[in-house]
Amino acid sequence: MLNSLRTRLLITYFAVITVALGVVALALAVFIVRNPVIYRRLYMRQTITLQVARRRLKAASVHSYADAWREAAQIAATFHARALAISPDGHVLRDTDPTAPALNLPPLKGNRMVHGRVRTADGSLWGISALRLANGGWLVIAEPLPSPLKVLWRAREDWLMPLIEAALVALLLALVLAWWLSSWVTRPLYRTAAAAHSLAEGKFIPVPEDGPQEARVLARAFNEMAQRLEASQRSQREFVANVSHELKTPLTSIQGFAQAILDGTAGDTEKIRSAARVIADEAARMHRMVVTLLDLARLDAGTANLRRENVALRSLLENLLLRLRPQAEAAGVDLSLEADAEATVLGDGDRLAQVFSNLLDNALKHTPRGGKIAVRLRRAGKFVEIAVSDTGEGIPPESLPRIFERFYRGDKSRTGGSAGLGLAIAREIVRAHRGEITVQSTVGQGSTFVVKLPLA
Ligand code: ADP
Repeated sequence: MLNSLRTRLLITYFAVITVALGVVALALAVFIVRNPVIYRRLYMRQTITLQVARRRLKAASVHSYADAWREAAQIAATFHARALAISPDGHVLRDTDPTAPALNLPPLKGNRMVHGRVRTADGSLWGISALRLANGGWLVIAEPLPSPLKVLWRAREDWLMPLIEAALVALLLALVLAWWLSSWVTRPLYRTAAAAHSLAEGKFIPVPEDGPQEARVLARAFNEMAQRLEASQRSQREFVANVSHELKTPLTSIQGFAQAILDGTAGDTEKIRSAARVIADEAARMHRMVVTLLDLARLDAGTANLRRENVALRSLLENLLLRLRPQAEAAGVDLSLEADAEATVLGDGDRLAQVFSNLLDNALKHTPRGGKIAVRLRRAGKFVEIAVSDTGEGIPPESLPRIFERFYRGDKSRTGGSAGLGLAIAREIVRAHRGEITVQSTVGQGSTFVVKLPLA
């Protein structure tokens, strides 16, 4: 439960909200406690009290100092304030609240009204305002200043309630957001998981690519993987079908001829010999095919144990062409090699020779008399490219993407020992050398196979 994205999100939001509101509350508290308005209001009230007292003093009805004091004390009492009368030499003459702690009044100076904060003997703070009287004495109004906690408590309506309300709203919002966000993130994940389950049961349901970027990447990768899996399963099925089919034909003829020999229907010794020859040829063909298939399987599995040594490609091609020249001359095909520099790659020389020998064999097979086969070696950056071009019949566009497949033969009628495995093996060998093989072809004009290998 605590591991679910939803809970985690909710906890995170909750923490963020608490911290944010805590900071706001602290700032508000500092502001409220330090608020100068509180003092200003206090001094204003005291000023009004003193001004009223002064006006009363000037009025005709007030004659004596005692009258003036009485007036001031009365007004102070209506404001719940304390009033003091100070003599010109600074002694407290009267105090409306003599039981309250004594004020440490500073020496009062000047002709105007003065305001200030003073501390009592017991350490509490008082706000005072003082008015100078005609006789040189002072009339003082004093009120205790509230403690910061008391100020906060008094102002709680102003800040505590809105904060609590804000917290509730934010919490509700966080709940909705966490719900929505977690669904947005997890829905595509659950969908991909469900698709993976059904894929395990053999059904491929494409995952819709939506939700957050990361989930879309995952969905795309999953779909790609599933498609490749399907393709590889399909090609595996095809492969098994092809192998069975390819083995069936020679086996049928072996079986037929062997039966004929056993039945005695093969006839005379000469006929028996020719039947035995067919059997031997077909068995040899099957043997070659099985060996090739085993080889392919090893290359596929990466257990072919390729050597890794420096291979000089120009010399390798020169030797190969030297070997093929008599065959080319017999076929009336011109064979040429073009290479400006030597190119060395790291790999298995015999295997690479197998690749080019296969390409050249194919070119010879498909190029009519009078045609040309050109081999070009070219260095390109960190790679070497070997192009084998012929002026043969070319490969139809619909066959082009398939010629590297196992058992694919362009011309099905032509069996002549070819099993359609040559290019498949060539591609596996080139891939094992971290290279790639590509083909370009125009029907009637010829084909070019390009092998690209990393230089040593
Ligand atoms: P195979 O030669 O045994 O049939 P490959 O794998 O070598 O098998 O080639 C597959 C198919 O590609 C061939 O059957 C042929 O149709 C086509 N092909 C290969 N090389 C050439 C070429 N140089 N010109 C025309 N077609 C070619």
